[in-house]
Amino acid sequence: MRIIRARAMGFCFGVRDALETARSVAHPERVAVYGELVHNERVQAELAERGFAAMSERDRQRLPERPEVLITAHGVSERERDRLVAAGKTLIDTTCPLVTYVHRVARALEQEGRLLVVVGKRDHVEVRGIVGDLSHFVVVAGPGEVEAYTDRRIGVIAQTTTPPRQAEAVVEAVRERNPAADVKYVMTSCQPTRDRQLAVLAMLPWIEALIVVGGKNSNNTRQLVDLAREQHVPAYHVQGPDDVEAAWLTGLTVVGLTAGTSTPDDVIEAVHARLVELAHVHPWRRAASF
Ligand code: SF4
Repeated sequence: MRIIRARAMGFCFGVRDALETARSVAHPERVAVYGELVHNERVQAELAERGFAAMSERDRQRLPERPEVLITAHGVSERERDRLVAAGKTLIDTTCPLVTYVHRVARALEQEGRLLVVVGKRDHVEVRGIVGDLSHFVVVAGPGEVEAYTDRRIGVIAQTTTPPRQAEAVVEAVRERNPAADVKYVMTSCQPTRDRQLAVLAMLPWIEALIVVGGKNSNNTRQLVDLAREQHVPAYHVQGPDDVEAAWLTGLTVVGLTAGTSTPDDVIEAVHARLVELAHVHPWRRAASF
């Protein structure tokens, strides 16, 4: 069995920088991480071991007890930031600059008097941060949720992990259902996510199954799984090597390997090693990677 590795996979610069900042904190016992720094259980366990307190993403209504608060790469709204500062918290901000860009675009479109249509997951922490400063918006997961709006000016943006084709399908639906409206679309899907999606698309014609490594809460990891399944290539979401089942590989000759932006390199390597090991379980096939 051959293993093809995606040419772009794993940690993006936003996650890498956030993690580096967290690792450089001198007194983790003073710091609460405001949500999941990365959607990866192993990294979260490492932070907990160093003494950071973790707040669940759904638990943000209450104030953290610790005096310092680490804002994750997913960002928070200005309102939320002000609330924390007003409560006397010192912020350690690791918001990804590409998320900050989406906030800026959203504000600018709203200032133009537009209804904001945000493509993404309503309950995702990044989306909650984006819409937290807006007064007039809707969040849609896809074109099927688009309605006819009363507004004559509409702006469309997307959660950074949204594949551009999904955002464009929503723009098309907005235009169709609101033919008289002035619709402005700003592409806000981030480049590292797009690189990982394009790398999967490039691999799909050559593979019989795709193994996608990433945290169970990682939206961009799920998007990679969906991309493969949409093209009828079986895709399996694993968090680590122990999740890989030998039965998935039975009879296959070429398997693809990729990982979401919150997956550490050593976890990817461990999954790769497991695939090589399983290839040896079927000795009539040659194990190789490139
Ligand atoms: S996925 Fe994109 S927006 Fe999110 S942290 Fe990484 S680079 Fe930034």
